[in-house]
Amino acid sequence: MIPDNILRTGPYPMLIDGQEVASQSGRTFDTFNPSLNQKLASAYEADEADVDRAVKAAQRAYDTVWSKTSARERAKLLRKLATSFAQRMEQVSWLETLNVGRPITFTRQSMAVLPDTIDYFASVAMGLGGQTLNVADTSVMNYTIREPFGVVGMILPWNYPLTLMLSKLAPALAAGNTVVVKPSEITPLSSVELGRAILEAGFPEGVVNIVNGPGRTVGNALVAHPMVERISFTGGTVTGKSIFRAAADRIKRLTLELGGKSPLIVFADADIDRAVKLAASDIMLNTGQICVACTRLLLDESIADEFTAKLRAACAKLKVGLPELEDTHMGPLVSPAQLKRVQGYLEGAQAAGATLDVVQDLSARPELAKGAFVAPTLVLDANNSMQIAQEEVFGPVQTVIRFKTEEDAVRIANDSRYGLAGVVYTRDSARALRMARGLKIGNISINTGMKASSDAPFGGLKESGLGKERGMDAILENTELKNVKISLR
Ligand code: NAD
Repeated sequence: MIPDNILRTGPYPMLIDGQEVASQSGRTFDTFNPSLNQKLASAYEADEADVDRAVKAAQRAYDTVWSKTSARERAKLLRKLATSFAQRMEQVSWLETLNVGRPITFTRQSMAVLPDTIDYFASVAMGLGGQTLNVADTSVMNYTIREPFGVVGMILPWNYPLTLMLSKLAPALAAGNTVVVKPSEITPLSSVELGRAILEAGFPEGVVNIVNGPGRTVGNALVAHPMVERISFTGGTVTGKSIFRAAADRIKRLTLELGGKSPLIVFADADIDRAVKLAASDIMLNTGQICVACTRLLLDESIADEFTAKLRAACAKLKVGLPELEDTHMGPLVSPAQLKRVQGYLEGAQAAGATLDVVQDLSARPELAKGAFVAPTLVLDANNSMQIAQEEVFGPVQTVIRFKTEEDAVRIANDSRYGLAGVVYTRDSARALRMARGLKIGNISINTGMKASSDAPFGGLKESGLGKERGMDAILENTELKNVKISLR
């Protein structure tokens, strides 16, 4: 059950210049619990002046302290953050469970790996440096330098607030940047508590700043601010494109982690039961609100009926319920608006000729009546040109598409404006290698699930994004490369 004292009593503050502060205007906004459709807490709402204050604090911290702090010292502070975060993990798990609707068991699992994420970036920061180059002109010595940008702005979505915040924050700080973070206005609470862990860890004032509020005002002001040299954005493709355009004015550096419509491709020679398990968990985890969820199920036609029957049976066993219960597999969607969106896609699929297989009947569950709950749903008799197969639904919905040959599977998988993730199940290793080459996808998994790890690069192709996060590439993307040549004469 939900422990007492998880929520603060007043509005959740922002973090600016080492202080938890109210917005200058004193304005607040409400944030909700989607399983009850009820107000959870309020947070101070920033405006342009607050963003300016936060960015100037970050610039000052960069100029006076952080740019003079060694990689070793930065790594030490990051490790202290890992410790202070670990001490708050249970509290922030509850905050995310209440605010996002993700079952507590899965929220705890998602938090448990984050101290290691911080630790990884603390470690690799120590090895960051340039190169000495053997250039053709022997009359010069040529070397490169890697430098931080200064102030990096971060804009986050609501589906995994702290996972995404830390996978941006840790490499940016490790590389020597200061940051201003704007969490999603739908899920601001856990980020405020992370701010407290940052203060406890002893980061100098202004190195990390957190401002809350809507994208059209706060996010926009952050992207437009002349002192913000780089933007790291995770969110929808439409928003990503507008940020791309706004950043073009000053040629700001960008990382964009955007939407997806990822395929799970299962060949007839695959371990079907393992693949079924993954397909069911992609529906269930975070109620399908995961950017890498494989929501186009591409099945070899010879196994399609068997596979679909097994998937249906697995989905029927998933416990849909209140997220605070430890045995719940699937909670509500994040909001009534998201529920409406998912229902709209399902109605559209039906109108286009697909068959909906709604696997569970939630209508007789009074405890779920108020919340944004939706049953796991399979979309059958679909084809890849339908809207349900082309657009990101962000719900517990799998669209089943049949294929005849390997070429067919590759063609259908690549027939998408997205290229974020993809999973292939086959026991034929040559085919696995051919698929890895043929798919126009940034993150490919073969015979295993699509789970990003902190120590390998992650990023989408096509309209799924630009640049990489995680792994050494995340550190490199947080630096500028300068070339230096010195005459030896
Ligand atoms: P969203 O694009 O609506 O919002 C994301 C963030 O952008 C929010 O903080 C929002 O306030 C802000 N924002 C909105 N308009 C803005 C503007 N004009 N200028 C600046 N900021 C603005 O996305 P969402 O609904 O919060 O998240 C769901 C989306 O995120 C899905 O498409 C999902 O695929 C994507 N996502 C991608 C990844 C990835 O790694 N590729 C990971 C998680 C989520």
